Amino acid sequence: FKDNEYIESLVSELRANGTNVVVGSLDKLINWGRSNSIWPLTFATSCCGIEFIALGAARFDMARFGWEVARASPRQADFMMVAGTIVHRMAPVVRRLYDQLAEPKYVIACGGCAISGGPFKHSYHVVKGVGEVIPVDVYVPGCPPRPEAMIYGIMQLSRKIKVEKFFGGVNRQEKREAFLAARD
Ligand code: SF4
Repeated sequence: FKDNEYIESLVSELRANGTNVVVGSLDKLINWGRSNSIWPLTFATSCCGIEFIALGAARFDMARFGWEVARASPRQADFMMVAGTIVHRMAPVVRRLYDQLAEPKYVIACGGCAISGGPFKHSYHVVKGVGEVIPVDVYVPGCPPRPEAMIYGIMQLSRKIKVEKFFGGVNRQEKREAFLAARD
């Protein structure tokens, strides 16, 4: 297992008390599983997408982290890596894809275009950052960001998931609806 402090702490507790009983937090156990199997939506709009594709190949091999199961349907994906320029005509489609992601869902804005419009930010047809359309969890700067930077960005998302409260925490859906209502 990678990143297995939580599991190691449970095992050492078992060893220490010499019984088969261990007490732990269900939140932590679920988040440990979720943070090590974040599945991306197969989605990219321009040049940053090529770097995202490289993550799946042997050199960067995102399968090491449990992220390799890129899904073609948003209903089966955990997060959307917005890698590329978003134009105004495309914005409603991005929003629809986001709406179709299953909860809990996350967004990574990858590259200058997705963060702020990038080199096209003065163009009339380009959205000045996907954060104007959908809520963003992690920003990865660059034009394009290297695959290592993308890996780092997804690791930050993984860290964020680990400290979430899966049960009884802040209602993410309500927060998102408030964000989207403010944007509409
Ligand atoms: Fe292309 Fe740069 Fe925009 Fe990425 S940030 S989509 S590399 S222009």
